[in-house]
Amino acid sequence: MKNNQKLITLKTPAEIEIMRQANKIVAETLIFLRSKMVPGVTTWQLDNWVEDIAAERGAQPAFKGYHGFPNSLCVSLNEQVVHGIPSRKVVLKEGDIVSVDFGVLYKGFYGDAAITHAVGEVEEKTRKLLKVTEESLYKGIEKALVGNRVNDISKAVQIHVEQYGFSVVRQFVGHGIGSQLHEGPEIPNYSVGGQSPRLLPGMVLAIEPMVNLGTYEVKVLKDGWTVETCDRSPSAHFEHSVAITEDGPVILSESV
Ligand code: MG
Repeated sequence: MKNNQKLITLKTPAEIEIMRQANKIVAETLIFLRSKMVPGVTTWQLDNWVEDIAAERGAQPAFKGYHGFPNSLCVSLNEQVVHGIPSRKVVLKEGDIVSVDFGVLYKGFYGDAAITHAVGEVEEKTRKLLKVTEESLYKGIEKALVGNRVNDISKAVQIHVEQYGFSVVRQFVGHGIGSQLHEGPEIPNYSVGGQSPRLLPGMVLAIEPMVNLGTYEVKVLKDGWTVETCDRSPSAHFEHSVAITEDGPVILSESV
């Protein structure tokens, strides 16, 4: 399915307020997970925790059952890029990097965010990969201004990433978000040029750079979900849901 065929919707301030609440649940869940991603924990356990938190908060996990995804949390280790499936057999160990991507449906609207966490000490270049990927997310968000175009976000992410010699995944992109998990427009993390959509007040965008230490090329594993780098180099992923307003970008999934 092509995201660019999906509808771009504009949200009212009241709807954005609900999306702030949805994303607050997501952000607080990710903060909780940060403290739990230590050696010896299984990715299955992480999934159980997020289910409990969502239930306590009256939210519905967004990914469970989405196109048949089996769990509530996407957990992607090391060379895995996104969409990793939680497993009782996958035990976190020192030196791993772990991308956790979580979404909820709350009062009719979605929240979606992701972080990549280093378990204990990781290699220096991998630590740099995480830092640059997170920075690139904020570089993109800085361009999420009324009157700019989607490609201004894409370009800012790509320029930041590539100056460090890392590469941006092409095959998967960010997206609009609202009463649907994936709405238009697509938000590539690389410049595609042309006339990308103009940013308007009321748009909410899930901006999510996926950045590889080696080649940009990725493939989907036989499980039908897990995305891995073709050269098996590490990959990092950070995501925020961001509202476009006349007063500038508002990060809905940033918990303060
Ligand atoms: Mg997303």
